[in-house]
Amino acid sequence: MTLHGCGETHQGRVRPHNEDAFLVDLEHGVFAVADGMGGHAAGEVASGLAVETLSEILGRPRGGDEDAPELLRSAVEEASRRITSRSDEHPEFRSMGTTIVVVLVDGPRLSLAHVGDSRAYLVRSGTIRRLTSDHSFVYELVRLGMLSPEQAARDPRRNVVTRALGSGAPVAPDIWQGDLEPRDRLLLCSDGLTTMLTDEQILAVLDAAPEALEKACTSLIEAANSAGGEDNVTVVLLGYDEAAPP
Ligand code: CA
Repeated sequence: MTLHGCGETHQGRVRPHNEDAFLVDLEHGVFAVADGMGGHAAGEVASGLAVETLSEILGRPRGGDEDAPELLRSAVEEASRRITSRSDEHPEFRSMGTTIVVVLVDGPRLSLAHVGDSRAYLVRSGTIRRLTSDHSFVYELVRLGMLSPEQAARDPRRNVVTRALGSGAPVAPDIWQGDLEPRDRLLLCSDGLTTMLTDEQILAVLDAAPEALEKACTSLIEAANSAGGEDNVTVVLLGYDEAAPP
């Protein structure tokens, strides 16, 4: 089996900067999307630091007996500490932070950590499944039964995240593990995609380009921009397929 992957980011049609960042490291099976926040370009400093730290800690050969959830947890915590200390040193970066969704792939084994409202989706046999639950204010209200998912998608407070890297507090990422199957697609994305497109629209775009991952990444970004492009949009797309014949 072979893992393929690609990533793409776009600032969208409204925002003056792109504060998202992503990581595609096929050699070490490390993939991430980070969505930074904070005024005066601080968001891109936070998301950049997060991705750089994860790349440094996770982008190396791993022994088969390493505890992937623990490795992910400690890498995410370290990224958060570095963002906090950078904002403590530089007043212009005060209160910057970032979301993170990061996966380690080892053979078919997939281990995922996430904080904030960037998401991971698994596309398998024509269905799309969300692997992450947003750490966001409106999602907390959905969990409490105070908003429907449809109301949450339109709520003006939908950008407010309840957990982020760089807050100074321990971040406690959610962890998910599972096994990839042949022809699976794994999508990591920032909320610039998911506030513009429904899960069904995302699936329709991916179904239209089942083989070409790069084309699918570009199509997702184009679809988000066609729908308004109200935020920076970032996608990382992985494919797990039988090896191409020699
Ligand atoms: Ca965003």
